[in-house]
Amino acid sequence: LNPRLAEFGTTIFAEMSALAQRTGAINLGQGFPDTDGPEEIREAAVRALREGRGNQYPPGPGVPELRAAVSEHQRRFYGLDVDPDTEVLVTAGATEAIAAALLALVAPGDEVVALEPYYDSYAACVALAGGTRVPVTLRPDGPDGGFRLDLDELRAAVTDRTRLLLLNTPHNPTGTVLTRAELTAVAELACERDLLVVTDEVYEHLVFEGEHVPIASLPGMHDRTVTISSSGKTFSFTGWKVGWVTAHPELLTAVRSAKQYLTFVSAGPFQYAIAEALALPDTYFTALREDLRAKRDLLAAGLADAGFTVHPPRGTYFITTDVRALGERDGFAFCRSLPERCGVVAVPNAVFHDDPEAGRSQVRFAFCKREAVLREATDRLRALA
Ligand code: PMP
Ligand code: GLN
Repeated sequence: LNPRLAEFGTTIFAEMSALAQRTGAINLGQGFPDTDGPEEIREAAVRALREGRGNQYPPGPGVPELRAAVSEHQRRFYGLDVDPDTEVLVTAGATEAIAAALLALVAPGDEVVALEPYYDSYAACVALAGGTRVPVTLRPDGPDGGFRLDLDELRAAVTDRTRLLLLNTPHNPTGTVLTRAELTAVAELACERDLLVVTDEVYEHLVFEGEHVPIASLPGMHDRTVTISSSGKTFSFTGWKVGWVTAHPELLTAVRSAKQYLTFVSAGPFQYAIAEALALPDTYFTALREDLRAKRDLLAAGLADAGFTVHPPRGTYFITTDVRALGERDGFAFCRSLPERCGVVAVPNAVFHDDPEAGRSQVRFAFCKREAVLREATDRLRALA
């Protein structure tokens, strides 16, 4: 095994989903919806397959229809001007976008400052690129009990070796949504220290309080930001693996160079279908958010009732809890025993930290599930108390 990969075994999501399957427990671990996305978009994929659109290698940057739809989406929701020909790259999910961006932009010895806890692929991809990750830990000391970024800590984490800031808002697993003021401060720091920003915005449409602000829209950021998103979350097709990158042409070309040798191109027919999905009316996006807001409230209330400390998320479809209130100390041990104790699977946040002590007692639950499933899960969790 390449020593750069040595510390990364099986992902926690694979481990916990396997545990759920083995035990028949309700899987609130891995974040995937238990209801597929819109019927008309599935039909659009079938049509593309039947009509032979995308069955052979599609263009490297993505099919023109999808690049145009991504550009139009950025204009419609954020007023951003993105050239579909030179500033959009279609990827195999956000996961490939993250890998391609980090492999393209990080050289051995470069430091990458990332919000912690972080989505697990960040650490592995920084390591594959030979970079060093420098965590800035979000802490649950926000006014509403949610997690918060300490801007002084962020500033202090930047050194002369820092190449880029790796952001994620709305943030998995804490549900933090960085505010315009926070992002403005981050943008000022990036400009002052001449840093690139790679920002993972896959949960851009899942914001329940506040607003999603793409950092690329802030002054001085267009030329230094690589923005990543994905159809997996917004359209509930995590299995299709259609993601995209938007960036200034120079940065986009760099990311595209890496993508060429990772997957060359991404699956064709699904790209046509997602082009149609991005053009769905505003009511689609609002309904998705409102449905998940109700589910968040349902799961949060159930978890609180069951004795967990709940750190309310402002976005995403995850809730981070603390299990110390239940007399537990270790999230790992807790998650491994939970299926047997009450038939529910969750994910320990410790795996998203460089220093596992930092997230030791935190456990993440996903609420992108049918209401009846969430009710059954919370009933089972109440039995723990
Ligand atoms: N980034 C974050 C923060 C995520 O939560 C996920 C999905 N789990 C991804 C990236 C990966 O997205 P995709 O499935 O499109 O590769
Ligand atoms: N993004 C999802 C999560 O955080 C699943 C990711 C995965 O399975 N790699 O749960």
